[in-house]
Amino acid sequence: DLGEQREFDYFNLALQWPGSICQHTSHCCSSNACCRGSNAPTEFTIHGLWPDYNDGTWPACCKQSNFDEKEISTLLDALEKYWPSYSCGSSSTCHGTKGSFWAHEVEKHGTCSLTVVRDEYSYFLTTLNVYFKYNVTRVLNEAGYLPSNTEKYPLGGIVSAIQNAFHATPKLVCSKGAVKELHLCFFKDFKPRDCIIENENYSSRSSCPKYVSLPAYVPSAAVDHVAV
Ligand code: 5GP
Ligand code: 5GP
Repeated sequence: DLGEQREFDYFNLALQWPGSICQHTSHCCSSNACCRGSNAPTEFTIHGLWPDYNDGTWPACCKQSNFDEKEISTLLDALEKYWPSYSCGSSSTCHGTKGSFWAHEVEKHGTCSLTVVRDEYSYFLTTLNVYFKYNVTRVLNEAGYLPSNTEKYPLGGIVSAIQNAFHATPKLVCSKGAVKELHLCFFKDFKPRDCIIENENYSSRSSCPKYVSLPAYVPSAAVDHVAV
């Protein structure tokens, strides 16, 4: 149901961790989001730039977007590398038609932040720029939180490393004890701010345990899995 919604409060840059996503799949959707072979990304990649409300809810699907890949042709190399889709099938857009992951994200989220990112091109360019400026993978690596299939890390340590680097509190999303997503939040001028962490009971799926893993991508394991 597409319709105007009230003005949003802040941005949420949602990142996904390939090591966790690839644990549950061995698809190879494209050369850039391949959960097998040597092409799997080893850094957080982009899920989307999401407008949010301070009460923990968010607007969605504010306008039809008519996504046109030609408008972002100069960004495609970067998008394929840093904003890959790990689902091989197409995504459904707000009104149920099928499109790419990018088309889905700009229509569901981008159309609700048009006061700041005014068109499709700015939505993708802005998201890439913020992603490059706030390099979460580098911050975690420098703090000693390296991808591993044996280590577990204190959630509080990961959160502190981000807080020390960006002076803002991120939100982590886990699946089976592994970090699946990391959300970084920004004021509308893209200065970092705290994310809103909803009541843990509100969505138990999104809460992480005290010790979490950052799974490393293991090419041979995924290929073996395919062979079985
Ligand atoms: P999940 O249920 O997997 O956490 O989220 C499903 C979808 O809901 C996400 O892909 C995203 O489109 C939307 N969503 C989940 N959490 C948030 C949030 O904090 N802010 C916004 N804007 N959308 C969210
Ligand atoms: P969201 O949960 O962001 O609202 O919706 C995600 C949609 O994009 C789903 O239809 C999902 O199948 C599709 N999709 C395509 N590639 C990806 C991906 O790499 N990660 C996630 N979370 N969803 C993806």
